Amino acid sequence: MSDCLFCKIAEGEIPTELILEQENIVAFRDINPQAPTHILIIPRKHISTLNDLKADDAELIGELILAAKELAEKEGIAESGYRTGFNCNADAGQTVWHVHLHLMGGRKFNWPPG
Ligand code: 5GP
Ligand code: ZN
Repeated sequence: MSDCLFCKIAEGEIPTELILEQENIVAFRDINPQAPTHILIIPRKHISTLNDLKADDAELIGELILAAKELAEKEGIAESGYRTGFNCNADAGQTVWHVHLHLMGGRKFNWPPG
C-alpha cells in the first residue's frame, strides 16, 4: 500500500534501522518507546488490522511471534520477562494501520493493562 508508513519502513523508503530482516517480516525500534526495549515486528505484506487476517496468514503471524522470542533473547529480557501485543482498532489504541507486534521489556508491566 503506497501511503502506509510501515510499508515504507519495510521497503526502505523511510530510513529506519531494521534490527531484523527476514523474507516475510522486519523489526525496528519504536520511535516513542514505552519501555527500555520497545520493538515493532511487522509483516512485509500490508495487512491493516488483525481483523483482516486470513487463514493463510497463520504462518506469517507465527513468524512474528517467533521473532519476538528471538529478539527478547538478544535484548537480554527473555528471563526477566517481556510483554507482547497487537493493538486492534480504536479501543486498543491502534494508530498505524499495518499489523505490528509490540515487544516491550526492561521494566515491570501492570496487569491488566490500562
Ligand atoms: P499502535 O498504537 O498502532 O499499536 O502502535 C504504533 C506504534 O508505532 C507506536 O508505538 C508509535 O510510537 C510507533 N511509530 C509511529 N510512527 C513511527 C515511525 O515513523 N517510526 C517508528 N520506528 N515507530 C513509529
Ligand atoms: Zn502497510
